[in-house]
Amino acid sequence: MKPYSELTALERAERKRLQKLAASKRWKQRNREKVRLAKAAWEKANPDKKAAMDARYRAKHAERKRLKDAAWRAANRERALANGSRWRAANKDKMRANSQAWADANRERVRKQKKKWISKNPQQVSVDNGRRRARKSHTTAEDAVLIASWEKKWRPLIEVRCYWCCGLFLGSECHTDHIHPLAKGGTHSIGNVCISCQPCNSRKLAKTLDKWNRLLVSPVLF
Ligand SMILES: [Zn+2]
Repeated sequence: MKPYSELTALERAERKRLQKLAASKRWKQRNREKVRLAKAAWEKANPDKKAAMDARYRAKHAERKRLKDAAWRAANRERALANGSRWRAANKDKMRANSQAWADANRERVRKQKKKWISKNPQQVSVDNGRRRARKSHTTAEDAVLIASWEKKWRPLIEVRCYWCCGLFLGSECHTDHIHPLAKGGTHSIGNVCISCQPCNSRKLAKTLDKWNRLLVSPVLF
């Protein structure tokens, strides 16, 4: 190192700056507890500044944190899964809000996913629809069971007869329909359900029997 006397003014200033920095570092190392307390006091007195600093730090190191978290999760699968389910159980409202926000922001994707799921799970859709209707029309447990086993019998068949138009259709393409519509006071009971083809089902909707019979080519009379 050059002697101090040979340095230019600029170099002297730089050397002083470095010496000061090193001295400050040494002091901090000798007074760790003092530094810690001072830092804590400052953070307590400046919560907004502390929060902004933390946010800046997180933003700057987001990618590093993501990679670190992913590595930890890969190495601690069981614990990560347990942590996740514990968090979800404790933050149900947050979860619901998050997924609602995501769905609102991705309407088109949600619509496509739903459509795909429905076309892949016709059985489940019909069970869900039946359950929903059962809830709505206060079906007895006995009726729900009877209707479910009745549906199970005809849905896999290659040919079933539509109750309304008497046409033959694939069971998997037909619907359970209510003879007296639920919307008009009919019940979801084994005595009030029939097999309906898709066209009849979408034409009938909640029409009363009287109105609907007038529309049928070969009316079903009661
Ligand atoms: Zn039909």
